[in-house]
Amino acid sequence: MIKEWAYLLETSENYRLNLQAEQMEQFVLFLKLLQEWNTKMNLTAIDDDEGIIIKHFIDSLIFLKKIDIKNQWYILDLGTGAGFPGIPLKIWRPELEIVLVDSLQKRINFLREIVERLNLTKVKLIHGRAEDLAQMEDYREKFDCVVSRAVANLRVLSEYCLPFVKIGGFFAGAKGPDLKQELMDAHKAILILGGQVAEEEYYELPYLREQRSLIKIAKIKSTPKKYPRKAGMPSKKPL
Ligand code: SAH
Repeated sequence: MIKEWAYLLETSENYRLNLQAEQMEQFVLFLKLLQEWNTKMNLTAIDDDEGIIIKHFIDSLIFLKKIDIKNQWYILDLGTGAGFPGIPLKIWRPELEIVLVDSLQKRINFLREIVERLNLTKVKLIHGRAEDLAQMEDYREKFDCVVSRAVANLRVLSEYCLPFVKIGGFFAGAKGPDLKQELMDAHKAILILGGQVAEEEYYELPYLREQRSLIKIAKIKSTPKKYPRKAGMPSKKPL
């Protein structure tokens, strides 16, 4: 038994996640498959037991708990990579309908295996770039909530995420200690894209005592049609 599983149980208690035995088993299997696949392909730089449990699972869950997600919400995880925070979200709240997007096919292939082996339902996996998908009728301004962790700085990330959010919904980013600076740099972009900063929170990741932050941006106006710009532009020439 890996000692960090006790940390996950403790987190479940401290943050009132109410994780049950079956959900713990899903996390155990997710960890095992992540380590297995990571020997064959680059899924994540963090792949020791402690790293996966604290920096991926617990980090994702604490961020998600702070958002106060409603059961009927339609949610998108943009740039999910090996499934963070999207898969922990799905394990914790199996009733949610979620879409996981990543621009790397191999990561989507891994997630297909995860969805199958963990018996997850109501999850859609999409291989594609935010810039292209957010211009499609099916996805544009359709989500109650878009989440994203470790994909880009907030200025660029706002152009990736806000076009997916319906008016009245919001985008939530999992960030590190430099959120204040990121917010200053992203101020104009957020305004242009129809967003408004709604919440800013600073907290500590337990066990490792690292600084984390959360930014919530409300969608108050429709995003002008020209955003997001074509693939590569948001990062090359940030708004
Ligand atoms: N969210 C995960 C992965 C972070 S790595 C985590 O927190 O661990 C960033 C991921 O975003 C990569 O898997 C990369 O393929 C994806 N990505 C980067 N730019 C993207 C874009 N424009 N559209 C979709 N996915 C993107």
